[in-house]
Amino acid sequence: MSRVAYVNGSFTPHLNAHVHIEDRGYQFADGVYEVCIVIDGRTYDFDGHYRRLERSLNELRMPAPMKRAPLEAVIRELLRRNRLRDALVYIQVTRGVAPRNHPFPPNGAEPVMVMTARRFNVSESDAKAAKGVKVISQPDIRWGRVDIKTVGLLPNVLAKQAAVEAGAAETFLVRDGVVTECSSSNAWIVDKSGVLITHPKGNHILGGITRETAIACAQELQLKVEERAFTLEEAKAATEAFMTSATSFVMPIVAIDDSRIGDGQPGPIAARLRNAYKNKACGN
Ligand code: PMP
Repeated sequence: MSRVAYVNGSFTPHLNAHVHIEDRGYQFADGVYEVCIVIDGRTYDFDGHYRRLERSLNELRMPAPMKRAPLEAVIRELLRRNRLRDALVYIQVTRGVAPRNHPFPPNGAEPVMVMTARRFNVSESDAKAAKGVKVISQPDIRWGRVDIKTVGLLPNVLAKQAAVEAGAAETFLVRDGVVTECSSSNAWIVDKSGVLITHPKGNHILGGITRETAIACAQELQLKVEERAFTLEEAKAATEAFMTSATSFVMPIVAIDDSRIGDGQPGPIAARLRNAYKNKACGN
């Protein structure tokens, strides 16, 4: 069966799904996006993803192309047309198509909204989590507003490529001596007394929706969470490390650069949190 995409009001075969060459997302990265996971027809953490989409649009003074209910209806229809129950849904909104000039189009432009869905394999993710992943570290060379989920992802692309070339799954980004987050996930460590530590929200990390739900899960599990900066050295000496994102849930980290974390196996806290997250995010 061939894939179907949503482009500005129409469902189109994925192969012919196009936007104009003067789309400002294409020319200026003037657009925002969201990624969410659907398992067994239920969108994980949809509330959070929708709220963050609204926030990203507001921060860039872009109009919302549609309200929540129609957006959810488009997602449902996209999944139906692609015959998917477990899926990764990608939503992108750009400022629209206009002659190439840096300022916002003086007469406004219709936002361009694109949505795609592809199969998501939970068992593959669980198998990866059972082994844990390696990460490397690199300087965080991104701009000062990475709290906005824009499609301007070149530094993230370079950081992820470096990870792939090093045989790792992710890259810890280091700014002013502290680990901010990873190229497409939030970074966490667990200290010797079992306290979970993750960088505070602000302009230097993307406020992950999974991070938010994981904090709530940790509290329910009576685990202490500190939202504070930590150094790469602290991370390497941690008893556990893990990362969170919509597509990796809670993913244990077993090595940072060439330092083994704990005993080199996924830690018990990450495993408990992963389970708790999967239950909470689908509304169970
Ligand atoms: N940080 C960055 C840079 C990301 O791209 C992502 C994934 N979108 C995250 C963190 C995690 O966010 P979420 O939990 O909402 O997927």
